[in-house]
Amino acid sequence: MQNELLNWFYQNKRDLPWRRGRSPYRVWVSEIMLQQTQVKTVIPYYKKWIKKYPTLKSFKESNFDDVIKIWEGLGYYSRCKNMFNAAKLIKSSFPNDYEDLIKLPGIGDYTAKTILALAFKKKFVGVDTNLERIGYRILGLKTKTKRNHKRVIRFLEENQCNKNPGDYNEALMDLGGSLCKAGITYCNQCPLKNICKAYAYSSPTSYPTPKVSKKISIYDVAISVVEYQNKVLIMKRKNTKFLSGLWEFPGGKIENNETAVQAIIRELKEETNLTISNPVFLGNITHKYSHFGVNISLFISSPKSIKSINIDQEYKWIKMNNILNYPLPKANHKILDFLKKLD
Ligand code: SF4
Repeated sequence: MQNELLNWFYQNKRDLPWRRGRSPYRVWVSEIMLQQTQVKTVIPYYKKWIKKYPTLKSFKESNFDDVIKIWEGLGYYSRCKNMFNAAKLIKSSFPNDYEDLIKLPGIGDYTAKTILALAFKKKFVGVDTNLERIGYRILGLKTKTKRNHKRVIRFLEENQCNKNPGDYNEALMDLGGSLCKAGITYCNQCPLKNICKAYAYSSPTSYPTPKVSKKISIYDVAISVVEYQNKVLIMKRKNTKFLSGLWEFPGGKIENNETAVQAIIRELKEETNLTISNPVFLGNITHKYSHFGVNISLFISSPKSIKSINIDQEYKWIKMNNILNYPLPKANHKILDFLKKLD
């Protein structure tokens, strides 16, 4: 797992200001700022902060009015107060021991482990919701329980890298932020697909089972971009159906006791009379309409021949770059955004 993950990371890692020189102080500042806050929001705050307080020493000598001025607009102000108080408690150098770190205000298990892995190259793993989600998916665990959470932590820690624990930790962070997101996965590009059980089941976004909204039902569906001679198949929805008159890629609901692969093969046979043998799973996309949601397992497939095609609704084979000439449901626009990312 390590080699594949790290190779992917070295080719795809995000260039973030706090990654240029991983001092414990800089990792600490960035990790606290990133709590419940998006990366793009944090970047200008982090840069301003480091310009004013480039070292722990300079921060220790600050006064709180100046510090909070820099934080202004970033929200959750107790984070800033805790950092200020923690800096005063740190003696000469930054603690490099778990027990010492978690005694500091504002530093919990996740932040302590992240600082130890990234800044001190210790074999800890800071497991946030992104890393937890990846663990649940690789291990194929659906239900969120304390026991499963522990299994995920153990798995991620057992695979931690001796030489570059910080890179391993950041690689998982980047994977969770780019390819293995909560509502969308780009599995076909993922360096861990060969060991991932959720990938093998072709329905990663159901791992772990998302909290279900009581008001709407979520349907698991399998959809395929069907390619033949550089064109793709689109079909017009019938007038009797929801979203009638819009065009879409073929596919349909995954039945009980059926895998996504079995479903797409069956659906294509039923809807188009085309036979496909090896659909390639690309990833998962979730989309919510007002009264229901869909969890799409997306495939790409190519029939050997289209002689047998038989569709009792309007359909076309079109060049992919003409697809926006056709009105499409929102979920299909999401599919197009997804495909664009694969290019
Ligand atoms: S294969 Fe898919 S589900 Fe599994 S870790 Fe990679 S992106 Fe996530």
